[in-house]
Amino acid sequence: MEKRFVYADNASTTKISPGVLDAMMPYLTEQYGNASSVYSLGRKAKIAVETAREKTALALGCQPSEIFFTSGGTEADNLAIYGICRALASQGKNHIITTAIEHPAVLNTCKELEKNGFDVTYIFPDVNGIIDPSDIKKAITCRTALVSVMYANNETGAIQPVNETALICKEKNVFFHTDAVQAVGQLKINTAEQNIDLLSVSGHKLHAPKGTGALYIRKGLPFYPLFSGGNQEKGIRPGTENTASIAGFGYAMEEAMASLSERYITVSMLRDRLTGKLLSIPGVTLNGDKKNRLPGHCNVSVSGIDAEGLLLMLDLKGICASAGSACTSEDSQPSHVLRAMGISKEAAKSSVRFSLGDDLTAEDTDYIAHVFAEAVKKLRKK
Ligand code: PLP
Repeated sequence: MEKRFVYADNASTTKISPGVLDAMMPYLTEQYGNASSVYSLGRKAKIAVETAREKTALALGCQPSEIFFTSGGTEADNLAIYGICRALASQGKNHIITTAIEHPAVLNTCKELEKNGFDVTYIFPDVNGIIDPSDIKKAITCRTALVSVMYANNETGAIQPVNETALICKEKNVFFHTDAVQAVGQLKINTAEQNIDLLSVSGHKLHAPKGTGALYIRKGLPFYPLFSGGNQEKGIRPGTENTASIAGFGYAMEEAMASLSERYITVSMLRDRLTGKLLSIPGVTLNGDKKNRLPGHCNVSVSGIDAEGLLLMLDLKGICASAGSACTSEDSQPSHVLRAMGISKEAAKSSVRFSLGDDLTAEDTDYIAHVFAEAVKKLRKK
């Protein structure tokens, strides 16, 4: 098969869409005003920020006043967890419940809070990477300030029972945060209908630039900001607004929603085609729930090989994929997500994640499967 470039790492980051770039350009060039300035150049920047806020709110089923722009998913997660916990600590609420499969942006924030007198309960998933809401229910105490459960896992794509968990939290009067970085733009989300109190979004996972994101905070929640500064974003996230990036982020949210259903079908068909071919190779197994999975995710373990070597061979043939999470790929430890699911160290170290986008074709996925099979054969002979 002739060599081609296939980007299959959209869970890691995505390419900026042409529409997003167009939406940003005026604010990188002529419309350089500060959104807090009262003259018309500033007012134009303010309009761009507020338009993006409206688009984001529409996409998430909330009010524009409940959206706070951040520098990305990591900041949104930190802001959500510290924001609630610091506001509630004086009421004796010093317990957090989260899962063992969260992104480090959540896990390490919880670890920091543990150093500061908080107790954290880590809920483990089943072998398919899905948590059981009844485990959350059992862990809630009168000291619980927050439950934080990701919407969908970045490594396996496993979609978590967010609705059931949020309802339990509502009944128990505990705030519920979800890191929806991988889910926004892939799944229909409605914060009001789903009883979500806080939700994190990252722009670069949905064709907006890196360093953009948002936190949804339900109106009226007790909240303490992370940074001290001016009154931008109502003081919840002070600092001069990154107008161009926010405009691009808002456009990307609108664009993602407009194509969501169609894209879900196209991408999941491609994923199933790829998954089927990969699983026909002896010793290849799928990680994560078969049914409750993001449309583009395909995470497999390959017996007898190390993922690193396989990824290098894929790269030589023009294919971009990841071992576990790209955010931790410099860390040679096997994936904490797969280990929490009960997968062996060896199988976790041999896991490769493909995350497909709608720019791919069936020929691209066949190319991945072909190169993958050849590479596995070669590596097993070594
Ligand atoms: N949460 C999840 C589930 C992610 O996958 C990522 C990034 O991969 C993040 C948080 C961090 O987002 P950002 O890269 O925007 O800081």
